[in-house]
Amino acid sequence: MSGLEGFRHSQLSLKTYRECPLRFRRRYLDRMWWSREWGADEEQRGAIRTGQEFHLLASRHFWGMPSGAASDDAVAGWLAALEEFAPRRAGCRYLPEQELRTAAGEGALVAKYDLLELHPDGHAVIYDWKTSPQPPQAGRLARDLQTRLYRAVLCRAGTALGESGWAPAAVSMVYWNPRFPAAPVRLPYSPAAYRRDWEHLTCLVAEIAALGPGDFPATTREETCRHCEYRPLCRGEAREGTEPPEGEVDDAPWELSWEAVPELPL
Ligand code: SF4
Repeated sequence: MSGLEGFRHSQLSLKTYRECPLRFRRRYLDRMWWSREWGADEEQRGAIRTGQEFHLLASRHFWGMPSGAASDDAVAGWLAALEEFAPRRAGCRYLPEQELRTAAGEGALVAKYDLLELHPDGHAVIYDWKTSPQPPQAGRLARDLQTRLYRAVLCRAGTALGESGWAPAAVSMVYWNPRFPAAPVRLPYSPAAYRRDWEHLTCLVAEIAALGPGDFPATTREETCRHCEYRPLCRGEAREGTEPPEGEVDDAPWELSWEAVPELPL
């Protein structure tokens, strides 16, 4: 057994495991954390901070708070585009930065939503903000583990929000990038897709829980290693790891940082 029984798996932890089990072990079992901006140049650090600021201002907007001044015109423009794309509707309940957890066999699953929009007619929309320079791709996002996890967890654990819960047909997910405001990706859900997703997710959790500490193999895909923070370690160049900042969680801003880290030269 890996010692991860009861571990709360996020979309990032599951994706990490699928890409490279050894990377998963180093990050979650050995707790070797690297600074979130390690390996990024100044431009990329700026992109990370801009993405984080946008997520923060978007949350404030949906909490109904004054969003405050954006640090630059680009972020201010993104926020204006968001307010046009997803205006607060009367009668809807808005839950930005909402986290939901549910038990899943030997472990648990956790989803942290950028925004849940709960409609009075009983349907729920999950919003996820992306700020990368590439436009959202519907085909890839429909298959993405984040999509599968977020919709399934809402169906499974939605009653924790004080409502009667949501059947799959009442749930949809929207990816939106303020750089491409007219190109949202809308993904409906269905009972059949929910059953497939839940089985896939619980099997993945069980597979990880059954592994021994020495059973996390390294990927053979060099492409994956190019983006990996442990590459110096795998190549025999051990570096000093750092603890994550207090309260840091496995959520969208964290992922933004890893997406932005450049490939390291071989
Ligand atoms: S460098 Fe490659 S093999 Fe090593 S942990 Fe990262 S992805 Fe896995």
